Amino acid sequence: MTYIVTETCVDLKDKSCIEVCPVDCIHEVEADRMVYIDPDECIDCGACVDPCPVDAIFAEEDVPTAQVKFVDINKIYFKDQDAARVKVDELKPTA
Ligand code: SF4
Ligand code: SF4
Repeated sequence: MTYIVTETCVDLKDKSCIEVCPVDCIHEVEADRMVYIDPDECIDCGACVDPCPVDAIFAEEDVPTAQVKFVDINKIYFKDQDAARVKVDELKPTA
């Protein structure tokens, strides 16, 4: 299991979650429109959920139906970052 970041993080990335994660497994780089949680490093502690101002983070099994595409995007990201970026742009085109 892991925690998953979903759509409301896109283009916000305020990084509140990064400050509280005890294992530094939330990845943020300039080229990304959102942050990503490394599923191999996340210890499922849930500490990142409440600090997020836009309720973007869910336990994998609790991700709302409308956001399930972000479960796949998160998995893809840690194999192919560019492919994940393309999928985010498809779901939420830049203005
Ligand atoms: S659930 Fe815990 S370990 Fe996983 S990303 Fe959130 S704060 Fe980090
Ligand atoms: S706290 Fe929420 S909006 Fe901010 S970077 Fe983390 S997931 Fe994104």
